[in-house]
Amino acid sequence: MKHYFKPDYYVRNFENIDIQRLKKAGIRLLLCDIDNTLVAYNDPDSNERVKKFLKKVEHSGLDVALVSNASPKRAKRFAKDLDVEHVFYLSFKPTPRNIKKAMRYYHVAPKQTALLGDQLLTDMLGASLAGCYKILTAPIIEKDKFDTRINRFFENFIYRHYSKKHIFKKGEFDD
Ligand SMILES: [Mg+2]
Repeated sequence: MKHYFKPDYYVRNFENIDIQRLKKAGIRLLLCDIDNTLVAYNDPDSNERVKKFLKKVEHSGLDVALVSNASPKRAKRFAKDLDVEHVFYLSFKPTPRNIKKAMRYYHVAPKQTALLGDQLLTDMLGASLAGCYKILTAPIIEKDKFDTRINRFFENFIYRHYSKKHIFKKGEFDD
């Protein structure tokens, strides 16, 4: 059975991602969620930590793009000081539409693409549906937007299910 919500790699925060591990897995494109993955959902701007991380990823030879469910206004403001070529907003994850668009744009296969996000129901499921490698991070802050709060409610059931089956456990990071 395919575990649609199970990450391939589970980290405490984006800075802990071992890029060599991704390269060894054949990853060439990293797609990042924004809200509660790179910054808190209510933080409109990026910061030095995000900049440094994205630079590090690019310097190691990977392409990076943002794939967010946020509005164009939110996504563009966040990305304005960042050196990312492409920002896919209104992605409606878990629909894999923008993930697939990004893969076409960078001419990479699903197996060469990783999606980094903080939610099982949008990011992990979306990446599964697109056939990508999945990186889950703990959310930057515990607070969420209203629609995310509904997702978190269902997410807790999934975490509990996976935990009971000893598949993976919330808070048991790979880093
Ligand atoms: Mg998020």
